[in-house]
Amino acid sequence: MKTPAASIPALQRRRHHLIATLAPPPDGLPGSLALSHPRCGSPTCHCRTDPQGHPSWSLTFRVAGTTRVVHIPHADVDEVRHWVEAGNAFKAAVAELLATNAQLMEPPPASGPALFSPVPWTESACLPIFPG
Ligand SMILES: [Zn+2]
Repeated sequence: MKTPAASIPALQRRRHHLIATLAPPPDGLPGSLALSHPRCGSPTCHCRTDPQGHPSWSLTFRVAGTTRVVHIPHADVDEVRHWVEAGNAFKAAVAELLATNAQLMEPPPASGPALFSPVPWTESACLPIFPG
């Protein structure tokens, strides 16, 4: 898909904004927070007839290709929700930055050079972090 010429400056502004504001949330979490209403199975418990069952929060996420589910105590739900939202926002911003970079690599319609072109990686192009 060709990038319309008029959108390149907008993409560059968006790219600069994302780079300037992107910061990993130190306690960010992956996945999703969900409320379930399980029943304990006891024939005398209120949950046998109560549609609310025993309200239970859990965080579901994937690690190394495996889905994990962690119970979240009610007292921690607001904090965990905050860090899940922060984690998802960070992931979305990184994905948008990478997509913006890819869009800027496309040559403009006048077949001129791409306005942003990452340098192909070579060992000599890799600057030492701690020279000397
Ligand atoms: Zn019960």
